[in-house]
Amino acid sequence: MLVNSKKLFDNALKQGYAIPAYNINNLEWIRFILEACNEDKSPVILAVTPSSIEYFGGYKIVVNLVETMINELCIKVPVVLHLDHANDFLSCKMAIDAGFTSVMIDVSTMGFEDNVAITDKVVSYAKEHDVSVEAELGSLGSDDSSQDIYLYSDLEQSHDFVFRTGIDSFAPSVGNVHGFYNGNEKIDFELLGAICKMVRIPLVLHGASGLDDNKLKTAIFCGVTKINFNTDLMYAWSCEVRKYLKTNKDIYDPRKIILSGKNAVKKVIHEKNTIIGSKNRL
Ligand SMILES: [Zn+2]
Repeated sequence: MLVNSKKLFDNALKQGYAIPAYNINNLEWIRFILEACNEDKSPVILAVTPSSIEYFGGYKIVVNLVETMINELCIKVPVVLHLDHANDFLSCKMAIDAGFTSVMIDVSTMGFEDNVAITDKVVSYAKEHDVSVEAELGSLGSDDSSQDIYLYSDLEQSHDFVFRTGIDSFAPSVGNVHGFYNGNEKIDFELLGAICKMVRIPLVLHGASGLDDNKLKTAIFCGVTKINFNTDLMYAWSCEVRKYLKTNKDIYDPRKIILSGKNAVKKVIHEKNTIIGSKNRL
């Protein structure tokens, strides 16, 4: 069943766990994630970036694929279909019109007032359609950027931003980065906790791949209710596929090649669901 994230966040906040968000990269990944989370009895957020929308061929294709798979595979857990890091109002509108149940508007690289204005416009449209909205303040770094990758949201500004936009969940920059940390992680948990007390809405942790179990648990303790994983899954899959191709040099069936990484992806999902406590929540 496709749902928005509001009730899932309420339950997770009350019971002290987090909802996992896994990026879908192709048709097979939708299935890996849905199956793994259904086995775990874990609610799940399927995150789709604008580049993945392009890869799949459009918003409606993604909605139809996900809905059909939920029905045909008899997936019993609640599923949120979430647009990840949309950088304009129109993308959010198109996702909502197509049937997405959650969107993230990320115009954090713009000035503060522009960020407030665009986010506010997305929230107004989303509310009319019962869709939840996540937004970000202070740009997240990336492990492939040459700039200083550690950026931190301002406490007062975070409060102002959340209060003025009415978003459902907030993604602060607290030293987290997309991709791998390369042994150089600088998450400010004190700031994370302070932001949570200040904004009093569910927090989202982007760039959680590579964070150890204790850090994930600490983040949840500090008020994080949604944790995004992508790199860990892609890495596990590609390692397995490389191994498979190396030892099966005569195989050319793409189904066998793609599926050779299935168990590795599902294993990571089971591990993450266990660590963040989303298992057996139904
Ligand atoms: Zn992200």
